[in-house]
Amino acid sequence: MKLDTRALRYLASEDWNVLTAVERASKDHEIVPTQLIERFSRVKGGVSGVHKSISALAKVGLIARVKEAKYDGYRLTYGGLDYLAMHAYSTRKEIYSVGSRIGVGKESDIMMVADHKGVQKVLKIHRLGRISFRSVKTNRDYLRNRQSGSWMYLSRLAAMKEFAFMKALREEDFPVPEPIAQSRHTVLMSFVDAFLLRTINSVPDPASLYSDLIDLILRLAKHGLIHGDFNEFNILIKEERSVTTSDSGEEDESIALVPIVIDFPQMISMDHQNAEMYFDRDVNCIKRFFERKFGFVGTQPGPFFKDAKKTVGRDNVRRLDAAAEASGFTKKMARDLEKAIREQEAAKEKGDEQYSDEDEDGSEEGEEGWRE
Ligand code: ADP
Ligand code: MG
Repeated sequence: MKLDTRALRYLASEDWNVLTAVERASKDHEIVPTQLIERFSRVKGGVSGVHKSISALAKVGLIARVKEAKYDGYRLTYGGLDYLAMHAYSTRKEIYSVGSRIGVGKESDIMMVADHKGVQKVLKIHRLGRISFRSVKTNRDYLRNRQSGSWMYLSRLAAMKEFAFMKALREEDFPVPEPIAQSRHTVLMSFVDAFLLRTINSVPDPASLYSDLIDLILRLAKHGLIHGDFNEFNILIKEERSVTTSDSGEEDESIALVPIVIDFPQMISMDHQNAEMYFDRDVNCIKRFFERKFGFVGTQPGPFFKDAKKTVGRDNVRRLDAAAEASGFTKKMARDLEKAIREQEAAKEKGDEQYSDEDEDGSEEGEEGWRE
């Protein structure tokens, strides 16, 4: 599923009104009855104007007609939600143009975008919820009409949580991208011009980078947090050059490798019931990677969860594990999101062949342009 912006500039303001109406009604209706769209839309030309917009939106795949339903209705597609988010950013002058896709996960699309001044930014579009529909087939009908299982709701939660944590971490000077804005299932952030740790084959001083990364895990723990996916795919390495002049006037250039951490929807609290398992998993990911890639094995054992646990909140540091809740993310939202993320992980581990890049309901028409 990639972001296709071809029709973005051709939609009339009536079409946006109708698309917004479908989104509003989707909160309570998985399939929105046409009559409701008519009622929610403020469009010149009355009902026939609405119908014209519905056709235009369905044609470019932003809404999809649902044939199997008992009543005539439409469903907002991933594409439709993408457009609503893009429209919001563009109205607020946060995004002017959309460039190439730089990352493709099963749970997200990462796009390069730019504002009016040409400043490059990264747009992360969350695509959560597809797996749970596909892999837990027996649950499908059960999930279908429940908001807590819907892709739109889950993807929005992932974006909200990621944005809240990025903000909180940034405020405490953690090396993370700058969170710029959030809309629906997307997060807009600064572009980190760096190499993914995974793509780096050698470093001058593995011990020093290793200890920086372990220190980051421990610093997060002190603030009450576990990243939960701390590995070579979620760590970018920036080269920072600095020139120092010695007493004799000689210039010395040194290059420091600075890690920057990304990807936060799965962050958990140090108080979580499985905290120790997630903490150890993060530590072991780094250990395994350094051994395999750089042949480096640390001399010290650990770090251990029980020691890290004792440091939570020490030196009056701000606990960040409630950061998402502080921004309106309720306990129920946290539970719903965690459940979906665990299901996704389980599906990935199983190598589920139904782990396909399809929308949750393949029976609709009008979406072809939005699939790969
Ligand atoms: P996912 O949840 O799909 O793993 P990530 O947030 O880890 O998504 O992003 C996927 C990839 O996109 C990363 O591995 C990285 O290469 C790239 N990426 C994500 N955010 C940024 C950013 N702010 N700057 C540069 N590259 C990024
Ligand atoms: Mg990632």
